[in-house]
Amino acid sequence: MTQTIGGGIQALREAMAGPVITPGDAEYDEARKVWNAEIDRHPGVIARCATAGDVVAAVDFAREHSLEISIRCGAHQCAGLAVCDDGLMIDLSLLNQVVVDPDARRARVGGGALLADVDAATQVHGLATPVGLIGHTGIGGIALGGGMGWLTRKFGLSCDNLESAQIVTAAGRVLRVAEDENPDLFWAVRGGGGNFGVVTEFEFRLHEVDPMVELGFFFWSLEDGPAALRLARDVIATMSLDVNVVVGSMNAPPAPFVPEAHHFTPGYVMLLTGFDGTPEHARLVARIRESLPPLFDMVTPMPYVELQKMLDEGNAWGFYCYEKATYVEDLSDDVIDVVAEQVLRKSSPMSLLLFYRLDSAYSRVAEDDTAFGGARSPRFAAFIVALAPDRDLLAADRVWVRTFWEALRPHAVGDGSGYVNELMEFDEDRVRSTYGARKYERLARIKGEYDPGNRFHLNANIKPA
Ligand SMILES: Cc1cc2nc3c(=O)[nH]c(=O)nc-3n(C[C@H](O)[C@H](O)[C@H](O)COP(=O)(O)OP(=O)(O)OC[C@H]3O[C@@H](n4cnc5c(N)ncnc54)[C@H](O)[C@@H]3O)c2cc1C
Repeated sequence: MTQTIGGGIQALREAMAGPVITPGDAEYDEARKVWNAEIDRHPGVIARCATAGDVVAAVDFAREHSLEISIRCGAHQCAGLAVCDDGLMIDLSLLNQVVVDPDARRARVGGGALLADVDAATQVHGLATPVGLIGHTGIGGIALGGGMGWLTRKFGLSCDNLESAQIVTAAGRVLRVAEDENPDLFWAVRGGGGNFGVVTEFEFRLHEVDPMVELGFFFWSLEDGPAALRLARDVIATMSLDVNVVVGSMNAPPAPFVPEAHHFTPGYVMLLTGFDGTPEHARLVARIRESLPPLFDMVTPMPYVELQKMLDEGNAWGFYCYEKATYVEDLSDDVIDVVAEQVLRKSSPMSLLLFYRLDSAYSRVAEDDTAFGGARSPRFAAFIVALAPDRDLLAADRVWVRTFWEALRPHAVGDGSGYVNELMEFDEDRVRSTYGARKYERLARIKGEYDPGNRFHLNANIKPA
């Protein structure tokens, strides 16, 4: 394939400020890698774009040579959507600048930045915007599909905090999208993923977030798991917006704060965060310890930027992954029964289940205000993740994830369709049910306007109407 576009590659190199990498180049194998080691694809060309103009050149080049396009930001999308075979990979990793205007409380974020870049730049000013829990995730994929994390209850999803964006369309046009400029497209990029073009810059609203937070990490045995989930349910029912909880099941990490005897022990975990110096955190720590003494715990103040990187190592690049998500309204006894049974059946010690709480600011955004593919009633997002050091263990836990997801389905909100950023299978019915028919139709009309040829189809694909 590269032979047929060989002459063109030179032209692309000349048109771009950033490097163009092809299979013969020393950095090719590193550049085509994505976070999930299961994915091994060989693009014909990698355009590592340094400017919006580079992105235009790459999109035009792909069109002229009829090349499939994949878009790479943090490369974390688990099905490996960031990389294609034979086609052109638009690698945005050099577009990682974050420029903060503390007075206006806005951040302009390059379309290839990582969450850690965003947190580092905004926290210098005691500000933040809601993003996910792992620092090496890309802002592009997370914000275009939703974006859930510690600050979502207080300030909404990442996409809810988008003020404007700059986007390169399939026709190679550079557009600004905001409430007052291309409003349909602005609506679509807040949840509709990478369907509508390549976002070269996001502008996010920022909020005051004290640079020091309180963390509680509590770990219980498998036997105490159901009681731990019920305790989490009670804590969550009354917690204010200054605290948050992520709860689930995993093996204890081999971290310095974990007694050696418990390294890798399977069990249940509750992470309790406290923001802006709230005394509620200490009260809840005491309540948790008293109600259900954990196997071990750690309670400590830490910088917000460290909290946002705390899980990075356990989710490092180079492991094999398969995942599915769903929403449940509550941690009901029925849900807890399913969890208690299913967590015993995983094979890989790295596989895990996490529940994120979504309510308050998340629920104050009207359903139709953004294209986000999930209803806004208070709920839990359940992430069932198979993570393994090798393919054999992954194969076993791929089955585990699917069985677990099916078992939760009768208790899930709607038909069980989960979070679009966690999809691994992309048939049209599944994508449609993730968005709901009405939103999907609106997205399809906008897709028809901006990408009628479906050039950007390596995503949770919206078919152009
Ligand atoms: C370890 C891990 C932790 C996670 N934690 C969370 C979490 O806490 N909260 C949460 O909400 N989600 C979380 N996720 C899911 C995450 O939202 C998705 O995997 C997301 O797609 C990752 O974005 P990325 O930029 O890293 O991925 P990439 O693979 O680079 O991109 C995924 C897709 O997004 C689109 N895209 C990316 N950037 C752009 C752009 N600039 N312009 C146009 N399209 C673009 C493209 O279609 C691309 O194929 C996590 C995933 C992993 C693997």
